[in-house]
Amino acid sequence: MEVIKSPAEMQKAAGALRSEASPLGLVPTMGALHDGHISLIKRATTECAAVVVSIFVNPSQFGLGEDFELYPSSLDSDLEICENLEIAVVYAPPADAMFEKGYDTWIEVPSLAAGLCGANRPGHFRGVATVVAKLFSICRPERVYFGEKDYQQLVLIRRMVLDLNLGVDVIGCPTVRENDGLAMSSRNANLEKNERERAIFISRGLCRAQDLFVAGERSVNELKKAAHEELEKGDVEIDYIEVIDPETMELLEVAFDSSRMAISAKVGAIRLIDNLPLKG
Ligand code: AMP
Repeated sequence: MEVIKSPAEMQKAAGALRSEASPLGLVPTMGALHDGHISLIKRATTECAAVVVSIFVNPSQFGLGEDFELYPSSLDSDLEICENLEIAVVYAPPADAMFEKGYDTWIEVPSLAAGLCGANRPGHFRGVATVVAKLFSICRPERVYFGEKDYQQLVLIRRMVLDLNLGVDVIGCPTVRENDGLAMSSRNANLEKNERERAIFISRGLCRAQDLFVAGERSVNELKKAAHEELEKGDVEIDYIEVIDPETMELLEVAFDSSRMAISAKVGAIRLIDNLPLKG
C-alpha cells in the first residue's frame, strides 16, 4: 500500500491505477477510522478493482469555535486498517498541500446547504463541497462512497456531481451503529462516560418516531414531539429535529414512506448528528 501526501503525486498514481484497474473507487474520510468507515471501504473493495482512501481533516469545513483542534486523529492505526483491507493507496495530504498560499476557489451548493446542519454551521458545506471536488480531481475515481450518516452531505455531493458533470457514481452506504444504537462517529471518542450514556437518546428518539410511523402516525409535529421526549431523557441540547424529503431536503409537515427524520444535538461540548428513514 502506498501512502501519498502530495496532490501531484496522487494525481499521477491515480492515472496509473485507472489504466490498470477500473473502476477506481474513492472513500473520503477525516480519519480516526471506525466500523462505519470500514463498511464503506469494504463495499468499495468489493465493487472496485482498486480503492483509494483519503484521510484529511478539512480545516475549511470547521467554523470558528468548532472542534477542529480537538478532532480525533489516529493515523498509524488508520494506515494499519487500510493495509489489512488491501487498499491500493491512502491519500493523506497536509492542509497546506490542499490549500496552498493564495487559494481562492470555492464551491457552493446554497439551497441544499441552507437548512439543518448548514443553518448553524455557516460555511461548513462550502468547505465540504470544495474539498470533495478537489479530492475527485486529485484521485480521479469512477465510484465514490459516502455514508448516509451524513445525509445532508450525501445529497449535496450528489447535486454537485450532477451540476458540475463530474462523472463519478456516488454510492450511499447505510449507517453503522454501536450495539446500543448510537451511530458510529469519530467524535464519539471524545465523549465522557456520562455523555456516552446520554448520547444513545439521539438514536432512541429516531426509533421512537419510527415506531409511531409504523403505527400510522404521519403528522411531523407528533413524530417530532415523540423524538423530543426521548432526547429530553438524555438531557442533550437539541439543535434540530426535522423530517425531510430524502431527495430535496425540503422540511415536511406530513411524513411519507422513506422520508427521513434527521436530528442534531450537543452532548456536553460534542455535536452529534443522526438520521433514519421512516418506513411503514
Ligand atoms: P468522516 O470521517 O466522519 O468525515 O466520514 C467519512 C465518511 O464515512 C462519510 O461519508 C461519512 O458519512 C461516513 N460515515 C461516518 N460515520 C459512519 C457510520 N456510522 N456509518 C456509515 N458511514 C459513516
